[in-house]
Amino acid sequence: MIRKVLVANRGEIAVRVMRSCRELGLITVGVYSEADRKAMHIRYADEAYLIGPAPSRESYLNIDNIIEAAKKSGADAIHPGYGFLSENAAFSERCKQEGIIFIGPSAHSISTMGDKITARQTMTNAGVPVVPGTEKIRDEQQALEFAHQVGVPIMIKASAGGGGKGMRLVKDMDDLLPSFRTAKSEALNAFGDDSVYIEKYIESPHHIEFQILADRHGNVIHLFERECSIQRRHQKVIEETPSPLMTPELREEMGKFAVAATKAVNYEGAGTIEFIVSDSLEYYFLEMNTRLQVEHPVTERVVGVDLVKEQINIANGLPLAMKQEDLKQTGHAIQCRIYAEDPDHNFIPHPGVVTHITVPLGLGVRYDGYVYEGYEIPMHYDPLISKLISWGKTRAESIARMRRALYEYKITGVKTNIKFLEKIMDVPDFIEGRYNTHFIENNSDRLLSPKLCGTECEDMAIIACFIDYLDKIEKVQPQKFTEEFASTWKDFGRKRSVLRL
Ligand code: ADP
Ligand code: ADP
Ligand code: MG
Repeated sequence: MIRKVLVANRGEIAVRVMRSCRELGLITVGVYSEADRKAMHIRYADEAYLIGPAPSRESYLNIDNIIEAAKKSGADAIHPGYGFLSENAAFSERCKQEGIIFIGPSAHSISTMGDKITARQTMTNAGVPVVPGTEKIRDEQQALEFAHQVGVPIMIKASAGGGGKGMRLVKDMDDLLPSFRTAKSEALNAFGDDSVYIEKYIESPHHIEFQILADRHGNVIHLFERECSIQRRHQKVIEETPSPLMTPELREEMGKFAVAATKAVNYEGAGTIEFIVSDSLEYYFLEMNTRLQVEHPVTERVVGVDLVKEQINIANGLPLAMKQEDLKQTGHAIQCRIYAEDPDHNFIPHPGVVTHITVPLGLGVRYDGYVYEGYEIPMHYDPLISKLISWGKTRAESIARMRRALYEYKITGVKTNIKFLEKIMDVPDFIEGRYNTHFIENNSDRLLSPKLCGTECEDMAIIACFIDYLDKIEKVQPQKFTEEFASTWKDFGRKRSVLRL
């Protein structure tokens, strides 16, 4: 049985995982980079080990150093959190070879689902509806044929993509080949794999996903859906459960497919089956995330389970303690992702020192965070600083609580998206639960500052491009990107704006 858990992550999720470990009486081991010496997860852990310099590839993505820390500490299990190594098949395999329990699925499940083309094939074989689309596109001729067959709009997607990256929407047939070429080179640069495929673009799409749990004994259950259609650049911002779009019949049907999808890869652990749903309620498998999800707390609140404890029980080889018919949704939960970013300037990340923080409390509010007064949010990682979760007997009560909690939440020293989230709580289409993934762009006049126009907008595009560049050089070799960035840069032709910064 697991006795001591190393959490191979940082930020709010490292703290959240350690909380469940502590409740289970397990010893917690933290790991940290040089930029994280003062991080909350290190203060929280029973023991902590330095695993390398600030850049993630030298620390939080450094498998050798993490394994070494696990051995030194005598940890018998590793929890990967989300992001970083959580969906890395080689890491799962390495843990196994080293005799350390990986709290997550096998390397085989991760690689089957991590490659979107293989996942689509596996789902088709299992009878799960997938978005109409292709297998791996061999050449430009094939891309043209499919596009003509289904008609635009279509999406070109990187098989290895994730985190909202590696996707291109094509609305005009003339853009197809140029987009196809750029998509391939971007995929190669960002993910080291240029395989792309094409999907029909689902109009007015809703992102609805099902939480699943699967044990080693073949038991698979789902814990209902999460609605994640409030997105910016294909990245979720607000999530809720139950979904306002859902009907009991649809829930039952999609839940069955989620379970079938999970069984098709002999899955073990917690996972998420993502679907894209059209306005007329046609639904298609989008992808599986083989890990704990950022938005898992809304499910925990409404279904009444601790998903991290379940993950640990499963990793211990225990059978699931609950059956499908035992589960029900009680009330309504919403999660807001709070980022250190500036919504008035194209959501540019805004790391810095937190000079003051007041965290919301009170009935029906959960706060998962990691920053404290005086803490300096490092620039090297994702700017997520916390997640705020509200619960109410009804959706209306849950929204009212979220509005109240956002009002109580005060942070100074860094810019955040708190005001932006507060504005969303007041948009009639949100209040009435009538929204799809275009919600933020459709309501941009209410949500975004009118200042953002003309040349400022162009400046921001250059900055966003530069940030993307910095993000990439962190992940892959710098020299590969210099050329690509130089050409993107030239397109903007406004070097001076950046120099001004
Ligand atoms: P969720 O589906 O749980 O909402 P996200 O898509 O927001 O997850 O991703 C969770 C975290 O993992 C984010 O910090 C995101 O940047 C990171 N992430 C996910 N996939 C990748 C990937 N392929 N490459 C780099 N980072 C990723
Ligand atoms: P990632 O691995 O980056 O999470 P996903 O395939 O899950 O990528 O897609 C992320 C988001 O992109 C979806 O939630 C949705 O908003 C949008 N999207 C992806 N595929 C389609 C599609 N075929 N039609 C419409 N929207 C899509
Ligand atoms: Mg996804």
